[in-house]
Amino acid sequence: MEPREEIFIDEKTAASFKVKKGGRIRVIDVKGGQVADLVAVSKRDPSEKLSTAVTIDNNCSVRVQVGDTLFTNRYNPMIEVLYDTVGRHDLLFPACSPDMYRYQYGIRSYHPSCAENLSRALGIFGIPAGEIPSPFNLFMNTEIKKDGSVVIHPPLSVPGSFIDMKAVMDLIAAVSACPVDQGNCNAGACGPLRVEVYER
Ligand SMILES: [Zn+2]
Repeated sequence: MEPREEIFIDEKTAASFKVKKGGRIRVIDVKGGQVADLVAVSKRDPSEKLSTAVTIDNNCSVRVQVGDTLFTNRYNPMIEVLYDTVGRHDLLFPACSPDMYRYQYGIRSYHPSCAENLSRALGIFGIPAGEIPSPFNLFMNTEIKKDGSVVIHPPLSVPGSFIDMKAVMDLIAAVSACPVDQGNCNAGACGPLRVEVYER
C-alpha cells in the first residue's frame, strides 16, 4: 500500500502531521543509531495528549513492545504498536531542551533541541508550546540497572529499522530527529528519519 504522506526529516529537525483514527504511522531510522522523539495530541481536543506516565501506569512496564498501547493523560488508548524491527525504545526521558544542553553540557550558545523542534512543528497546527507532551523516544536505548540508575546505550536500530503504529483516535503528531550529538544517545552522530502515514 502506498503511504498517504511521506515525510523526510533532516537531521536535528522535526515534522508534524495528521493521522486519522485507524491510520498507521511508520517511523524509519534511515542511517541507524538515531533517536526519534514522537509526540501526539488528540485532534478533537489538543489538551488530551500522549502521557508516558499513564502509559507506564496502564502497562505496568517502562518498556513498549508490539501489541502494547500508548495512552493519553485522560487514560484513553491513543496509539498501538503493530510491528517493530528494533524492540528497544524509551518512555522515561524528556525531550532534550536548551536548558538540558546548558545544565548537562555547559552549552550556552544555540543548540537545536527536540523541545524546540516539536514546539515549532506542532505550532503549525496551532498547538501551544505548553501543550507539548513528554515524548515516546523511539529507538532510544535506555537500561535500568538494579540499583535504579539509568544508562543510555547507543540505539539498536540499523539503517532502515522501523516501527509501525496505529492511531486509535484522530491525532496531530510530530517526530523530532533528536539533535543530541554528545554521548551515546544517537551513537555519537545525528542522522535523518523518514515518516510514512497510511490511511488504514
Ligand atoms: Zn532530543
